[in-house]
Amino acid sequence: MFFHGMNGGGGRSGPADTALYDLLKVKPNASDDEIKKSYRQLAKEFHPDKNPQHGEKFKEISYAYEILSNPQRRQLYDARGLDGIKENGAGGGGFGSDDLFSQLFGGGGGGGGGHPFASMFGGGGGGGGRRRRMRGQDMMHPLRVTLEDLYNGKTSRLQLSKQVICTGCKGVGGREGSSVECRGCKGRGVKVIVRQLAPGMVQQMQTACPDCQGEGTMIADKDKCKRCNGKKTTQEQKLLEVHINKGMRDGQRITFAGEGDQEPGIQSGDVVIVLQTKEHETFTRQGDDLYMKKTISLTEALCGFSFIVKHLDARDILIQGKPGDVIEPGTVRGISGEGMPQARFPDNKGTLFVQFQVDFPSNNFLPSEEKYKKLETFLPPRPTTTVPEGENVEEVSLMPYEDSHGKTNQQGGGREAYHHEEDSDEEGHSHGPGGGVRCAQS
Ligand SMILES: [Zn+2]
Ligand SMILES: [Zn+2]
Repeated sequence: MFFHGMNGGGGRSGPADTALYDLLKVKPNASDDEIKKSYRQLAKEFHPDKNPQHGEKFKEISYAYEILSNPQRRQLYDARGLDGIKENGAGGGGFGSDDLFSQLFGGGGGGGGGHPFASMFGGGGGGGGRRRRMRGQDMMHPLRVTLEDLYNGKTSRLQLSKQVICTGCKGVGGREGSSVECRGCKGRGVKVIVRQLAPGMVQQMQTACPDCQGEGTMIADKDKCKRCNGKKTTQEQKLLEVHINKGMRDGQRITFAGEGDQEPGIQSGDVVIVLQTKEHETFTRQGDDLYMKKTISLTEALCGFSFIVKHLDARDILIQGKPGDVIEPGTVRGISGEGMPQARFPDNKGTLFVQFQVDFPSNNFLPSEEKYKKLETFLPPRPTTTVPEGENVEEVSLMPYEDSHGKTNQQGGGREAYHHEEDSDEEGHSHGPGGGVRCAQS
């Protein structure tokens, strides 16, 4: 880290260390104005917008100013150095520098993982209550894409509205030097409220100054920049070209570094595009593989089939099965090389899996019993059933029945499809056991 080695001295006289002053290129006895002036100049010089490679330096400068511009913190720093600041920050109820420390000393940092849409739906985040952040929030944008887009690749143009530093005042909010210290908070940006909880016990709470919205500075109405009305930033439309590469995944993020909202003195966050795949009517995807379902008739399942599938690149692919290549219901067959392109090597593609469903013919699809007998001669032999003789043999009848959801539990569809054969015996009209069982009669 960039602070190493600066706590060595620890002399009793004068500041414990001067690293933060050194960063701002001022003497330890510099006045508030000198510090502010120097900070502004350095912040301009190292602003990531102009100097992306100096982002770290910019953070250091901002951090130093964060401490030294606050009289309480400066005092603490002068007396005990950074350790004092750190302890105070960690010790709870301090100056709210936890955020800064966590950002500078590792620990997650600017909303990288976690809730992808937190910044979208959480609103502009921290508006009032927060002290200055070092880095702006990342802006997450979902981008709905089709499976075709992910198969073929695509460039999407995405228009977004973003906050940019006002060009009229370069982010000052008014004329040069028109920004004055807020009286309400004496430039600290925060107000400390002291509450007495019990005799001898007080709680200190810190809130953003309502007069200056935590800025610490104000601009008189007459001096305000006309373009941004003193807000220092304006909204602008920005067109982003999002390159969707072949084989990209659902949920994949495409990052536009530093394209987030601009705010004076803060490194802009990223715009992060999150791909969301629309459902496809034919295919579902798992990794680099595609899955589809196909219903074929019993005839096709036994005697061969061929069908056309419109692939994601608009090719018609012909899928065939030979006569005798029996497809049982639920059979899965794969076609290698017809899955999704691999992201790294788009010429390599996964497998297209086809799961077959077999549509059986409806009841009585042949007009006579003779025809069934004829059909049977083509089918594998039936198992032989030897019926035992004697009084213990009782003949029963099978009926379609509805389960508790009212669905007819019968191959081939609705009850209408079920007919009793004219020659079936009269047992068919008797009621079977159980309430759910009913007799279907034509
Ligand atoms: Zn302006
Ligand atoms: Zn204020």
